[in-house]
Amino acid sequence: MTDHSTAPPSEAAECRDCQELDLAEAVARGQRDESRATDCRVLRKRHRVAVHGEQP
Ligand SMILES: [Zn+2]
Repeated sequence: MTDHSTAPPSEAAECRDCQELDLAEAVARGQRDESRATDCRVLRKRHRVAVHGEQP
């Protein structure tokens, strides 16, 4: 149990992909583009499940 090479799920806070999807959602909402904001949320959720091991 001394192997620290695997990043824990908490690394999501500093994940660039997560940050970009957060930003894209914020921009879409700022433009009142709800369908695009929803797309961003779906993509971020899918990314977190795939990359960060989050539960679907
Ligand atoms: Zn991420």
